[in-house]
Amino acid sequence: MSARASSTFDRDALAILNRVFGYASFRGAQHSIVTHVAAGGDALVLMPTGGGKSLCYQIPALLRDGVGVVISPLIALMQDQVDALRELGVRAAFLNSSLGAREAAAVERAVAAGELDLLYVAPERLLTARCLELLENARLALFAIDEAHCVSQWGHDFRPEYLQLAVLHERWPQVPRIALTATADALTRREIVAKLGLHSAREFVSSFDRPNIRYRIVEKIDPKRQLLDFVAGAHAGEAGIVYCASRAKVDEIAHWLSAQGIAALPYHAGLDNATRSAHQARFLREDGLVMVATIAFGMGIDKPDVRFVAHLDMPKSVEGYYQETGRAGRDGAPAEAWMAYGLADVVQQRRLIEQSEADDAYKRVASAKLDAMLGLAETIDCRRVRLLAYFGESSPPCGNCDNCLEPPQPWDATEPARKLLSCIYRIRQASGFGFGAQHVIAVLRGHASERVRQHGHDALSTFGIGADLSETEWRAVLRQLIAQGLVTVDHARHQVLVLADASRALLRGERTLQMRRPKTESGRRAGRSARRARDASASDGTAAAPAVFGDATVEALFERLRQWRRATASTRGVPSYVIFHDATLRGIAERRPATLAELAGISGVGEKKLEAYGAELIDLIGSADP
Ligand code: ADP
Ligand code: ZN
Repeated sequence: MSARASSTFDRDALAILNRVFGYASFRGAQHSIVTHVAAGGDALVLMPTGGGKSLCYQIPALLRDGVGVVISPLIALMQDQVDALRELGVRAAFLNSSLGAREAAAVERAVAAGELDLLYVAPERLLTARCLELLENARLALFAIDEAHCVSQWGHDFRPEYLQLAVLHERWPQVPRIALTATADALTRREIVAKLGLHSAREFVSSFDRPNIRYRIVEKIDPKRQLLDFVAGAHAGEAGIVYCASRAKVDEIAHWLSAQGIAALPYHAGLDNATRSAHQARFLREDGLVMVATIAFGMGIDKPDVRFVAHLDMPKSVEGYYQETGRAGRDGAPAEAWMAYGLADVVQQRRLIEQSEADDAYKRVASAKLDAMLGLAETIDCRRVRLLAYFGESSPPCGNCDNCLEPPQPWDATEPARKLLSCIYRIRQASGFGFGAQHVIAVLRGHASERVRQHGHDALSTFGIGADLSETEWRAVLRQLIAQGLVTVDHARHQVLVLADASRALLRGERTLQMRRPKTESGRRAGRSARRARDASASDGTAAAPAVFGDATVEALFERLRQWRRATASTRGVPSYVIFHDATLRGIAERRPATLAELAGISGVGEKKLEAYGAELIDLIGSADP
């Protein structure tokens, strides 16, 4: 590309970003990507969810002559994507199996007449002779291959049609191609390059950090109550996803949340298709719904204003955790990833691996992945540092995770751990068989229950040697020992605890056990008020971390704006976020613009939206109590 062409694209790209999208500046690598593709270069873009991939092909499509063809497997999203673009004044349409013959023909005519800026197509549709011929006769600005990891036969999103997309380059060698994905690993990246023939594409790899997501992992004590505190507290009225491991639990939690006055819906593979899609559609369109779901829910959920993702069961791997929590906060506004985890999670996950039918090689991989996840859950250092390190990135402590905000106390649990190990040993020695966690802890704490007396365990030398620690603390120590493989659980025999060979080093004093000090009840309360104080101070702009709460007047106006948006969206038959994102409404609530010019200065208010909604909004703001 010539220097002149490139600098013209520079200026024009920024002008389109400001005027059409209403954003002040590009984020991260967006600018380089846009100018590279606009000048005719191929690109491979790896950016996390919410990183802003769409603009990377939308703006070049507007800068270049002809129509930009966007290939995506997510048919269910195309309508909303096209609606959102039309709201911005961009001429967009889609072709997929949901269109009737008449509607499809109208789109085809528009393509042939050169009346479109962007055309979204499903891959199977694109590869039909009819569609290829249509494109043959049209002027093409670019091809954008979204969700490009779908070419990977090893990934769970594999789409065979994606393999045939190499045909695009053969037929239209002069049309630039941009492939995009949020899947980070090097293997997938190499596969995309090979399968799509992108050898000469420039690679743009962004950091996978999601700075607006606050990570929080708490000990599971009373999970329903803890979930309710979390949802009804900091996230009242906000949209979120609650992940559970089983269908039965999804139903139970959705039901329970509803009974507590939280608008919640279930989603899992056991529900019939109609119910599932109805629930998904409501989640996308309505404000502030909570979706309680198994991991069957999520792929292609493009809702930008999911404010929290909560896990009531631990994911199997850090990849899973990253992907699921990543569905929060795509719009860049503050969001929270919260997980309650405890002894049962560790036991359950280990059991799933042990009892699986898979071969040993698979079990080793699965168990290594689980170890990494447990490491993240147990760490007393910055969660984000751990998370990014897993993906090969290094970073300083983030200041926006529980461990940074309320540093846990490190605890040398070597002595308690040795007591616990000896107790397991003594019990087995005395009775000839083992016992489960509850029994062992009762013996340690000197609790002479009927069962303890019946087996004569109140006479053991280890009876009562752990009276100084609470049940919660003992469970935390045991969780550590199981997480680190020093104790195993015999699932075939009533969850009996068994010493693993690895425990010998600790018993012999050759190693120590360092862990986070478990929170006691009073500790939890202190944590909560600390959080309240912090959130309050965050709203005056002094805290480095993004604020979750604002002050009351801002909050009140924000609520009114949301009501206005809900009404407007329903009249227009589009999801709320197609009108304005939360972040834009929040900007309006905070700055209270009094004129159209001031309103235009707020991020997310472009030319078309100013024209369509500006006057209404100024009236609404004017009539609200300051
Ligand atoms: P991705 O496809 O990478 O998950 P999107 O393209 O959906 O991300 O963008 C995520 C959000 O960020 C959207 O709400 C989008 O409007 C917003 N966004 C993207 N780029 C910018 C920017 N330069 N300035 C402000 N907001 C942006
Ligand atoms: Zn941190």
